[in-house]
Amino acid sequence: MSLVISDILNHLHINDINEAFSTGSNWGSSPDTEVKDIFSPTDGKKIASVKFATADDYNSVVETAAKAFKTWRTIPAPKRGEIVRQIGEQLRANKKELGTLVSYEMGKSLQEGYGEVQEMIDICDFAVGLSRQLYGLTMHSERPEHRMYEQYHPLGIIGVISAFNFPVAVWAWNAMLAWVCGDVCIWKPSEKTPLTAIACQHIAQEVFKANNIEEGVSCLIIGDREVGELMANDSRVPLVSATGSTRMGKAVSAAVGARLGKSLLELGGNNAIIITENADLDMSLIGAVFGAVGTAGQRCTSTRRLIIHENVYEAFKQKLVSAYSQIKIGDPLNENNHMGPLIDQDAVNLYLDSIEKCKAEGGKFVVEGGKLEGDAYRSGCYVKPCIAEVENHYQIVQHETFAPILYLIKYKTIEEAIELQNGVPQGLSSAIMTNNLREAETFLSYAGSDCGIANVNIGTSGAEIGGAFGGEKETGGGRESGSDAWKVYMRRQTNTINYSKTLPLAQGIKFDL
Ligand code: NAD
Repeated sequence: MSLVISDILNHLHINDINEAFSTGSNWGSSPDTEVKDIFSPTDGKKIASVKFATADDYNSVVETAAKAFKTWRTIPAPKRGEIVRQIGEQLRANKKELGTLVSYEMGKSLQEGYGEVQEMIDICDFAVGLSRQLYGLTMHSERPEHRMYEQYHPLGIIGVISAFNFPVAVWAWNAMLAWVCGDVCIWKPSEKTPLTAIACQHIAQEVFKANNIEEGVSCLIIGDREVGELMANDSRVPLVSATGSTRMGKAVSAAVGARLGKSLLELGGNNAIIITENADLDMSLIGAVFGAVGTAGQRCTSTRRLIIHENVYEAFKQKLVSAYSQIKIGDPLNENNHMGPLIDQDAVNLYLDSIEKCKAEGGKFVVEGGKLEGDAYRSGCYVKPCIAEVENHYQIVQHETFAPILYLIKYKTIEEAIELQNGVPQGLSSAIMTNNLREAETFLSYAGSDCGIANVNIGTSGAEIGGAFGGEKETGGGRESGSDAWKVYMRRQTNTINYSKTLPLAQGIKFDL
């Protein structure tokens, strides 16, 4: 497999991965620089040795970005959009190689690796159009011969902290919008997936270079949580967009909040599908199984709970058990497999621990889990997807376990189902499977799902880039990607212009000299 990696790097014209992305003069030159080995969860082999940033490296990158911002913001937004269009073209040209790298480094199936690159391409297209639509409103002034309007200006440096499970798409969601808005970006990817980040940064940087744009509009900083902490505490970074666990989001939010900066938080989910007695059960089965085992249960939108009407509960359970017996687990680069590995051994231990906790609370497993052994699973990161019958209030059910464990919960009335669905601390994605209009509309009403995403006859997993993406409660409240999510990357300014010969005050206040 190391051959594949070198082929991919050659294809992307990356000779030295530690040189391919450097921004800032001092990067990696300090004697304190740590070099860490990165291993693939797919076969356990070492993929690369990557330099991790020191605090000095971080500072130098911020300085480079701050300087670049002063020029980048002067370029008209549609011209910035043109550069993003070219980045999209490069991503298109390299979709196969990048998608393969995502699959190998992160462990998701090849189809999902390609899908992730497609998401980057889609957001580039979206951002190009957006670059001509950064609209503000005009208002009628209460004073004669006055004009009032609002406009949006870029914020400056956008810090993007991303998680391992979407190692490239989340960066693109943020960076492409931020760039057309006139901001510059510093990306701190997950320390578990630096190679895909280096490849993307390299692609973007080449496009900026070809357009004679000064270094620093696109910056990458490889490092672990300490680098994320530097960013969260740094008042030179007006917006920190952080994707990851709720634990991480609480830390970032507190640090950014303490300096009255802005944060955009995309955190953990605990997503449920309600399967009503009026559901198409075959369709529901595909949605539920893809949602639970896709990306080995490591999507923020993975289906963790199925809330099933008592009249169809047994029948649907049998369908699930039968479907799970057909799931093929193995090398994600082999397109015959449905499910690849978890990201690392720690994730396997958390999965095993959650199964024990579930059993201790009374959970009854109808499909048993466990770690897979043998040569095909030599990385030690492969597990069996499993299903347990539980009560919604179990502590383990209230918690997001980032692994393919699916919980079944029975309900009687639609009101009870919605209460169960909402009865967890997280609020990302939710779904109802029904052909009954009343059930569907109740689920979508103010008395329905409390999540940022609520779907009808679609599972919880997977979203299109055109909508605003994000969730409520412990998911963090952030929205990124489509709709008007761009506004968070800009500052709004209200302008009032007096073209009269007097100075009337607002609210009719008199002040004569
Ligand atoms: P994680 O929280 O361990 O790490 C995410 C990123 O945050 C990494 O880059 C990490 O280095 C950094 N980080 C960790 N602690 C930090 C701190 N105190 N300050 C600053 N940075 C810090 O998450 P993970 O294991 O990589 O990803 C899985 C989690 O991400 C799941 O909870 C999943 O639901 C969530 N996620 C959410 C979304 C969403 O859009 N809502 C998308 C993808 C993943």
